[in-house]
Amino acid sequence: MSSKAVSNTKRPILPGATLGILGGGQLGRMFTIAARTMGYKVMVLDPDAASPAGQMADVHLRADYTDHAALRQLGEACAAITTEFENVPAASLIELAGHCRVSPGADAVAIVQDRSHEKSWLAENGFATAPFALVYSEGDLRAALADIGTPALLKVARFGYDGKGQARVTTLDEARAAFDAFGGQPCVLEGFVKLEREVSVVLARDDAGACALFPVAENRHDEGILDVTIVPARVPDSLAQQACDTARTVADKLGYVGVMAVEFFVADGRLMINEIAPRPHNSGHFTLDACVTDQFEQQVRALAGLPLGDTRLLSPVVMVNILGDRWHDGGPHWDALLAHPAIKLHLYGKQTARPGRKMGHFNVLDADLPSALALAEKMRDAL
Ligand code: AMP
Repeated sequence: MSSKAVSNTKRPILPGATLGILGGGQLGRMFTIAARTMGYKVMVLDPDAASPAGQMADVHLRADYTDHAALRQLGEACAAITTEFENVPAASLIELAGHCRVSPGADAVAIVQDRSHEKSWLAENGFATAPFALVYSEGDLRAALADIGTPALLKVARFGYDGKGQARVTTLDEARAAFDAFGGQPCVLEGFVKLEREVSVVLARDDAGACALFPVAENRHDEGILDVTIVPARVPDSLAQQACDTARTVADKLGYVGVMAVEFFVADGRLMINEIAPRPHNSGHFTLDACVTDQFEQQVRALAGLPLGDTRLLSPVVMVNILGDRWHDGGPHWDALLAHPAIKLHLYGKQTARPGRKMGHFNVLDADLPSALALAEKMRDAL
């Protein structure tokens, strides 16, 4: 325990103080930029010497998330600490909470970082999800498949992301092969849902329970990876309102403090929760250029105990992810993209491009949403 007293008061942490973040990927980078823009110092903990957030931070601690000496150094230097990814060990968050303010809390992260806990928690709390069953053994797998039917998706309970650690299965043999390929680790078997659309809600909740929700985003995925986000989502107002109400209820029931995202499937005109992310989300990157406050400033505000910012949408917007696949013949044609006055480019400073790796994104702003979408698709193909 440090000599620094842990503050439980609601007094805001003001610019000049140091904020910490566990994880140095693009989400940490955009948090770091937002915090430094507002006059905070930022310390990043990430083992990768070339991490996107480390490049932007005042201090980059190159150590593992379980390294006690590094956690102590972070805890002693920072007034408050957050995380950019769900796989940070809950024990590290508990350790840090002995030094300073930490949000989100370890309890909420522990639920959502494991699909089996997350799905069980959602079901116990009355939220609709795709049909699912927990799989710990081959016997469970057989029973789950008989119960859920095919096609189904077998997903590893932990450390899966962007469609990794998932297999679509149509027979028991395929399911067995997938379970073996995942090393027999705990999984969730999900019924394959015929999706009409996918939408998400990014929100912030402060420690007094106040919530600020960003506009509902419509998401298109390609091979399990987010490709395009369209805002406002093209869904009936009643469905958008229901998504917002559900996301807020999830945050309330988790007692969540910070920025989080709830991803939904829309099937037969109804919502099901797919996942919860205890952090800013790729589907919230549109806020960087299209909202009064973006999701990373909101993360800073929630962490520092400042009033939450205005989430108003200033313009219809389409966000397009730029993946490493685009680097195959000399890299993307930035000139075509940058020739457009209403396209905003964000690159994450990653040195190595790999297929499926998120290298950056761009936002297309236009008062007319169909025009924004048409230009976004044209530019994506031209890259
Ligand atoms: P996830 O990593 O679980 O969020 O899955 C990534 C993407 O795969 C989702 O956004 C969907 O496009 C698709 N997907 C995942 N689970 C299902 C499901 N049960 N039924 C249909 N599509 C799914």
